[in-house]
Amino acid sequence: MNTLHRHIALSRLRTQQFDVLVIGGGITGAGIALDAAARGLSVALVEKGDFASGTSSRSTKLIHGGLRYLKQWEFGLVAEVGRERAILHSLAPHLVVPEKMLLPIVKGGSYGRFSTSIGLKIYDSLAKVAPEDRRQMLKRDAAAKAEPLLDATRLRGAGLYAEYRTDDARLTLEVFKTAERYGALPINYLRVQEFIYEKREVVGVVCEDLQPTTQYAFINSEVRIRAKVVVNAAGPWVDTLRESDKSKTGKHLHLTKGVHIVVPFERLPVRQSVYFDVKDGRMVFAIPRGKATYIGTTDTDYEGDLNDVHASTEDVTYLLDATNSMFPAAGLTAADVQSSWAGLRPLIHESGKPASDLSRRDEIFISASGLISIAGGKLTGYRKMAERITDMVLRRLRKSVSQLPCTTHTIRLSGSDNLPDHSAVLALRETLSSQLAPYGLGSEDAIYLAHLYGTQSAEIVQRMASFRDTPVLALLKAEVAFCIEHEMTATSEDFFARRTGLLYFDIQRVEAHGYAIIQEMGRILAWDDARKKQEIAQLSAAIARAKCQPIPAA
Ligand code: FAD
Repeated sequence: MNTLHRHIALSRLRTQQFDVLVIGGGITGAGIALDAAARGLSVALVEKGDFASGTSSRSTKLIHGGLRYLKQWEFGLVAEVGRERAILHSLAPHLVVPEKMLLPIVKGGSYGRFSTSIGLKIYDSLAKVAPEDRRQMLKRDAAAKAEPLLDATRLRGAGLYAEYRTDDARLTLEVFKTAERYGALPINYLRVQEFIYEKREVVGVVCEDLQPTTQYAFINSEVRIRAKVVVNAAGPWVDTLRESDKSKTGKHLHLTKGVHIVVPFERLPVRQSVYFDVKDGRMVFAIPRGKATYIGTTDTDYEGDLNDVHASTEDVTYLLDATNSMFPAAGLTAADVQSSWAGLRPLIHESGKPASDLSRRDEIFISASGLISIAGGKLTGYRKMAERITDMVLRRLRKSVSQLPCTTHTIRLSGSDNLPDHSAVLALRETLSSQLAPYGLGSEDAIYLAHLYGTQSAEIVQRMASFRDTPVLALLKAEVAFCIEHEMTATSEDFFARRTGLLYFDIQRVEAHGYAIIQEMGRILAWDDARKKQEIAQLSAAIARAKCQPIPAA
């Protein structure tokens, strides 16, 4: 996935017929690409923007059993995603990290001590949580000690239970890079415009190349790709493609918007993640990550532009009010919000149900033309969704599923080679700390590198030595070079939003070094002045959007 080799990938796409072509470079598409390639199929995948630029970089970033789904009696879903958590942790222990979650029980809240205790017990048993990680019920004083920021006057106790946190975009990228090892050919900035049919069966797609211009790109040229089976994994855009295939009948998508805000850690220094209830009966997370704490999410019906989803003033106010009500001492205001993101849940519509009550299950549609579409589901369940789709693709290709079974539960993701478990990740953090110390960088950067890139950090640290810049800039330049060479990074926003998450969790670093990184990308990718100008405008707009500010005029 080298950005400089994109023209080679394009020429393969133009000439080869693939067993399966996947549309959509989010976690669902990535999972299918890996599973299908690992079972020996030839696979291509096209993504209209950057990988994970849809919902898969805009989630709460938890690999979780979905405690809230117990309320909807979705026991099967809780059990499946609960089991998946442990599998994903074993496949990428640096990226799917155990995290204790505190569920406060407060006066006037929706859960009492008894219901919380029973709910968490059922959750542990459905998700087959290891005995040492099972839920603990804390009395009032212990709960106040566990989280001193909680309002002691309302606190009645708390439940402490096991979850896992991740970085959604990075998880998607590592699944892609692993798929590439098995021969899959994923490519970004290639938008499917229409389907190609033969005898009314879909046999390929016509794509438009949207890669920002570089000397290596075929500017705005058309790319026709042929495949025996086409899978539509376009997330919130699934129905747009079903419409183009004239097969949008019966069930359809119901999109809801979810917003997260980010505040400096010192403004909400929670000791662990907290899952707390809001006056309207919903639940919201407050999750510490590095220098920041993020809070989310909202859940409101959405009918706006799918390509421009952002936090509104009402969304920000809702989350601030919810947080201040649970942590009154924090006294957060809009001025504390340093970044934000907003995403769309592609849920399946159910008449009469409000957004929050819609099922998070996935649904598969097969059209008369043979197009397979998959929508709904969760980041956590991507591997099982991919298994179901790949089984279906094999049957379509008249291959035996029993002879080519799913093996992705044993395929470790790139970045986790030689990282058997969590203690190996802690050891990696120590090693990186000592390697970064001579540069004057602290343990925070070592933790950041270890959890983002895993063992790939070694290559990044090695590259740092060739830059004569300040340590932070040398690190960023080493990262961007790595991300261009291995992860098809085409723009500075790709880098700051989806390769590193810095746009959300350390926006000051982006503001301080964005210009220098654009110059460095320009050097590697041979950008001319016009292209650099376009980048500066695009990054400024991304920063303004994240900060909920007006977009500056270009
Ligand atoms: P997407 O990530 O949206 O990918 C679809 C891709 O298709 C997009 O990148 C898009 O650009 C591309 N595409 C569309 N049309 C075309 C075209 N014509 N040509 C080429 N490409 C195209 N799940 C969890 O497990 N844990 C969580 O903590 C969690 N939190 C969430 C919080 C929020 C606010 C939201 C909205 C969701 C959350 N989810 C969570 C759910 C999870 O994020 C989604 O289920 C998942 O990311 C969906 O992935 P996807 O690949 O199906 O869709």
